[in-house]
Amino acid sequence: MVIQNLLFSKTGRKFEMLPRIVYPGSFDPITNGHLNIIERASNVFDEIIVSVFRNPSKDPLFTMDERVELLEKSTADIKGVKVDSFSGLTMQYVKSKNASAILRGLRAVSDFEGEFQMASMNRELDGDIETVFFMTDAKYAFLSSSVVKEVAQFNGDVSSLVPECVSDALEEKYHKGEF
Ligand code: ADP
Repeated sequence: MVIQNLLFSKTGRKFEMLPRIVYPGSFDPITNGHLNIIERASNVFDEIIVSVFRNPSKDPLFTMDERVELLEKSTADIKGVKVDSFSGLTMQYVKSKNASAILRGLRAVSDFEGEFQMASMNRELDGDIETVFFMTDAKYAFLSSSVVKEVAQFNGDVSSLVPECVSDALEEKYHKGEF
């Protein structure tokens, strides 16, 4: 692919290093914004490992297993996608998977500071692993897992914001047993 050739002829690295990339995140739950990033990345990278990160400082709505299952269902039709989970340092995980880069999505300016800090720290830990950013599609710029959970919690319609399996799972979490 042309983009890959350009990237690697400039850095002098080998073309074969690009194929596998890790997309780490909380995915609590996956939204159409995440899915858009994964779909677009699948046109550039041969293999994307979408991996749920166990973040000890967050209190998730969905368990690891639930988040993995929702990711698997949502990405089943996208070529080259594998779903996994991990805890600990992202860089160690990326190396253990023999991947050459980390994929992240960028929304508004507010994402930039945190992502810049994280990418810089990861670079400090291992200069061989690059972080690749995909800009959000404008129609998903406002979309986050937190916003989706807030809307779903108060009975709002999230069907245009998340895959169907996710809106069903949210319904189950928040409104199961209600009459
Ligand atoms: P984390 O807790 O690691 O930020 P998230 O699940 O919230 O995990 O997000 C994972 C990645 O996906 C982050 O890089 C985030 O900026 C990106 N992302 C989340 N929502 C969107 C969206 N609507 N458009 C583009 N990127 C997004």
